[in-house]
Amino acid sequence: MTTWTNQMDRLIAPAVARSEVTDEVVVGAGRLADTGALVRRMTDKARVLLCADDEGFEAAGHVVKTSLQAAGFEVQAHVLPAAPLPKASVEEAEPFRAALAADPGLFPVSVGSGVINDLTKYAAFKTGRRYVTVATAASMDGYTSAGAPLAENGFKVTIPTRAPIAMLADLDVIANAPAEMNGWGYGDLAGKSAAGGDWILADALGIEPIDDVAWPMVQDHLKGWLDGPEGIASGDHDSIARLYVGLTAVGFAMEAHGSSRPASGADHQIAHMWEMEGHSYQGRKVSHGAAVSVGCVASLALFDWLVDQDLSRLDSDAIVQHAPSLQARELTLGKAIPDKKIAEKARDELEAKFATPAVHAARLRMLRSDWPALKDRLETHLYRHKTMADMLQKAGAPAYAWQIGVTSEHLLATMHAAAFIRRRYTIFDLLHDIGQTEAAFAAVLPLLTPQSAELAS
Ligand SMILES: [Zn+2]
Repeated sequence: MTTWTNQMDRLIAPAVARSEVTDEVVVGAGRLADTGALVRRMTDKARVLLCADDEGFEAAGHVVKTSLQAAGFEVQAHVLPAAPLPKASVEEAEPFRAALAADPGLFPVSVGSGVINDLTKYAAFKTGRRYVTVATAASMDGYTSAGAPLAENGFKVTIPTRAPIAMLADLDVIANAPAEMNGWGYGDLAGKSAAGGDWILADALGIEPIDDVAWPMVQDHLKGWLDGPEGIASGDHDSIARLYVGLTAVGFAMEAHGSSRPASGADHQIAHMWEMEGHSYQGRKVSHGAAVSVGCVASLALFDWLVDQDLSRLDSDAIVQHAPSLQARELTLGKAIPDKKIAEKARDELEAKFATPAVHAARLRMLRSDWPALKDRLETHLYRHKTMADMLQKAGAPAYAWQIGVTSEHLLATMHAAAFIRRRYTIFDLLHDIGQTEAAFAAVLPLLTPQSAELAS
């Protein structure tokens, strides 16, 4: 059996060696006090700007600060309030950026989970600084990735930045993080299953070929990382270590591929809509991982529907003939996305991915002739949506929209809008290409509502 320590040697170490940015990754129990020595290996600056929110600071900041001081650093802590949660936005990163810009002698160290890491990453990049990240929860896959998924003027984009020069994760700290946060990370990792399905579609249609570095880094190990979801909820060290290694590998896969394709597809497009809306449930903003969990199950339900179709019998001529023009698509987009700023950005994405009739016809020809093989690839790769929903719930993550306060109508509207917000080819685009968007949405929606899911369980 492959253990997580094994994977640190065989998967993460080569990824670090290949990385142009990250020089060191430390994962293990009781490692927090090694932060000072690690940062000392990374910089000869004398002073550290410790970026955290107060929860992250409580969880790890004190030990990190002491260890930095023991390594000879003067530490200036910049701690944001954890309630309300800091927003994943460029605006929220401004205090960190300003502090770094004002003092070239400061070396940034982020102590926290997703948002704090992304804010620090962005601020460090903007001021031409390297940074070290200390993880406090296995809550998302972005610790080691180059991009920072932040909202800029309300539109969520993955801003090209730079991965950390080093990352440290103390498994004792991570196992003690609120269980729901590790559940969110499990959801973010689970999304890679659906995202892999999207990449298989793009590959099969010759739109975006699967590569032989990033794909195996994630997809060859995904099922092992997702195995034993109960351990995530109960704080089992081994399950959480596997999850953490998985999330770390995904970050490197994104760096190796130069985009978030290895990590994000229709599942993330759905999640990004709720993140842009600032969707809240029970008085709190819904986290990235929770939104991805729900997006993942919805996306897998669409794949379940797809593999039950017989695309070898597509009436390609009729589909191409009745396909809406770009102008008609823009009208549909306007209806699907009422927010003007988001719609404006989405219009660029739509234009970039709009297929001419010739391209559209060629895709349908490929689908017709290659369908049995493609269907087989998808079925081998994907989880059925119900299986994934059960795993997510065991891990303590939400699986269905109502579990994060999203009604069926809202979910349907989200799926309609999400199809437009990225040029990346996903199942949404395939459903459009085969002229079956409405049919597929109508078929899956009842499966994702409380009544049927409760009856089924
Ligand atoms: Zn994600």
